[in-house]
Order: sequence, then C-alpha cells, then structure tokens
Amino acid sequence: MNAPEPIFLVRQHLIDPEVCIRCNTCEETCPVDAITHDSRNYVVDADICNHCGNCVSPCPTGAIDHWHMVPRGAAYPLSEQLGWDELPPQQEHAEAVIEETVASPEAGGDTVQTNAALSVSSPMPPWSAAHPYAHLYTAKNPAQATVAGNYRLTAPDAASDVHHIVLDFGTQAFPILEGQSIGIIPPGIDENGKPHYMRMYSVASPRGGERDGYNNLALTVKRVVEDHAGQPVRGVASNYLCDLPKGATVQVAGPFGVNYLMPNHAGSNVLMICTGTGSAPMRAMTEHRRRMVAAGKPHDGKLMLFFGARNPAELPYFGPLLKLPADFIDMHLAFSRLPDQPKAYVQDKIRAAGSSVAELLAGDTYLYICGLKGMETGVLEALGEVCTAAGMDWPGLQARMVNEGRFHVETY
Ligand code: NAP
Repeated sequence: MNAPEPIFLVRQHLIDPEVCIRCNTCEETCPVDAITHDSRNYVVDADICNHCGNCVSPCPTGAIDHWHMVPRGAAYPLSEQLGWDELPPQQEHAEAVIEETVASPEAGGDTVQTNAALSVSSPMPPWSAAHPYAHLYTAKNPAQATVAGNYRLTAPDAASDVHHIVLDFGTQAFPILEGQSIGIIPPGIDENGKPHYMRMYSVASPRGGERDGYNNLALTVKRVVEDHAGQPVRGVASNYLCDLPKGATVQVAGPFGVNYLMPNHAGSNVLMICTGTGSAPMRAMTEHRRRMVAAGKPHDGKLMLFFGARNPAELPYFGPLLKLPADFIDMHLAFSRLPDQPKAYVQDKIRAAGSSVAELLAGDTYLYICGLKGMETGVLEALGEVCTAAGMDWPGLQARMVNEGRFHVETY
C-alpha cells in the first residue's frame, strides 16, 4: 500500500472576530497593507501577509494574534473571513505533513521594518509593573457586573455628555491594574442580525477598586452622538452605558492589556498626556499614587500631567483634579475652545513647559499617551522639540524608552 501523500501546511494569520474591537490599529500598523475590513470584521489577506508581526503588539485585545495551520493553497479567503462571527476550529491533519512558515512565496521576507516609528508603543510593560491578568472573560463567557453608580461628569450646560460609571463584580474574580481595559458587550443585535461586538473602555480606577477595598471599577464614557465627520450617529455601547440605571447587569469581557501598565519602583516618574476621555487611565494611575500617599507610603517618583479638553466644563474630573496639590502632581490643562482665547492643545502646553518636560524625560520616566488619534503626531513633535532644545537625542531616547517598556500609546 502506498504512503499517503504529504499535505503541505502553511501558517495563516487570522483575527478573532469575537475579541476584536474594530479599533483599526492593525490595519494602520500593517506595513504591507494585508489587513482590511468591512462594516463588521477585520481580516487578513493570506496572499499579502508576510508574518512580520508588526500588528501584534499594538492590538489592544490580542484578537490579532491567531495563527492556523491550513493546507497550502486552501487559506481562508477574505470573503469567508468577513462572514465569520468566530474563528473556525483549528484543522486536524492526521496524515504526514510538512510545515511552511511563510504563507505566500510572493510575500517577501519574514521581517519588515515599519516606518511608523513615531507612533510606536512599547511591546512590554515597565519592569516593575505588577503582574496583570488578561482574558479571564470573553464575549462568549462574560463576567456579570452590576451598575453601582452612573454619574454625569461634564457640567449640565456642556455639549458633551461624559459619564463616570461604576461596575461591581460581586464575588467574581476580576483583578485589574491601572492602564488595563475591559470589553463591554451591548445587548441585542446589529443591523445584520448579529450580536453586537464588544467595545473597549480603559479603566479609570486604581487596582484597589473605585471604592478602595471593593471589587468594583470605574469607566469614563462619552455618549457618542456623531461620527468623526460630524454626522449624527448613535454610538451603540456608549449610549447603552450612559443610560444604564443603578442595579442593571452588564456583560463584561477582559481584562485586556498587559503592556500599558504603570511602574511601581521607587523613583519612577510618570508623564501622562491625554485628551478627553483618554484621561481614564491617567485618573487610575494618579489615584493609585494618591492612595499610597494617603496610606503613609509616599512614592518619591514625580507625576506630570498634560490634559486637553474643549473647556473646563467638558474636562472629565476637572473638580477633583484641581484639589490635587502641586507637590503631588505637576498639572497642565489645555483648553481648545475658550471664548476670546487662542486654541490650546496639549502639545502647546508641552512646549510651554519644555525644560521641565525634558528634565523629566532625561530621568527614570515612563510616558503614557491616551486619547484622540490625531494628537499623536503633534505630541511627538513637541516632545522631540523640547528634548532637542535641551540638547538631548530625542530619536535615540524615544527608541530606548520603547525598548525599555517606558513608552505607551493608546489612541483611537
Ligand atoms: P474631545 O472632547 O473631542 O477632544 C479633547 C480635546 O482634544 C479637545 O480640546 C480637542 O480640541 C483636542 N484635540 C483635537 N484634535 C487634537 C490634536 N490633533 N492634537 C491635540 N489635541 C487635539 O475628545 P473625546 O471625544 O473625549 O475623545 C477622546 C478619545 O479618547 C476618543 O478617541 C476615545 O476613543 C479615546 N479613548 C477613550 C478611552 C475611554 O476609556 N473612554 C480610552 C482610551 C482612548 P478641538 O477643540 O480642536 O476639538
């Protein structure tokens, strides 16, 4: 009897539609344009993907990191991936197989240098970060949280409706660190008759809970009423969350994120730059250090914050922030729409405080950027300018910070 013909297998890069939050980071990062999307799914073209892996660490959920062995010439086509609600099971191949690691011979080498150096984020956490737990709950197997509070943060006359929402996990294990995110699964179905995919929110409370010692956490959620082009649209998850009454049950996946974490060692400085609801992780980190001080365990590292909003009425946590003493946090607020005032962005405030920023960056400092995608370029240019003016090699420093887990960016 003849031996069975060997099956040649190739590794195919796939995205898990159940975990993906459709943030577009992978598509933006991919240096060979192998990733595309429709109104529902993000997918990878096996004919183009060269397995460079550049998209893996920026993905906030890990949905991107799936690799299936498939027979050569029988990779899942884009049309099939676009219809998926979940990944297919890994195929079993009992026969003798030969493995190849590159899906397509045309695709080129194994590694490709990205030219997106400016917006790169550390692929590892600070060395002294606490151990994070991730992926404990999924969209299929979510935790059930109870709404313990839902308060409007923005002033009654402010145009934007930003809420502080407290979720309690009761006796379920949901360990979370500052900088991590959770996935909210809105109930109901979308226009295609499929369950809504989950949306991700950064946690705004510290590891000890929104109320210290309680198994709860807080989110900062802005009600989405228009799209990026200013057209009216009703954000599915944000409207669901902002309207939740106390006592309601919410399906939660996560925690997510194992890199965007704060340092814990003595002398570590934290430089935070955020816009709008991107303030959530900054509130968490600041509150963690504030509680340490209150508990008589002061931290000798410095905190510096640049926070941009349209005006004080639209700045989440404006009141509590102003109560923090200047020797605890060096705070710079940038308002872009104050009457009779020139527009100010966080990058303008960074330039204005240039020598202090450069001095901090020259030390044992961990940088966190969070908020609007559009802020990245301006912020990185401003950081480059202030360092260069101080005689520092910014490209070298930035590369070192990225490689040392000291440079963290989360923008959407
Ligand atoms: P927003 O109110 O629209 O804007 C906040 C401030 O940023 C405004 O002053 C705005 O000025 C300014 N800004 C606009 N373009 C800028 C640029 N290129 N450089 C610097 N500043 C700029 O912000 P938002 O609606 O709250 O949006 C926050 C973002 O954070 C969203 O993209 C969200 O997805 C993201 N995020 C949220 C969370 C969360 O947990 N909720 C977590 C991570 C990230 P103008 O007056 O010019 O508009």
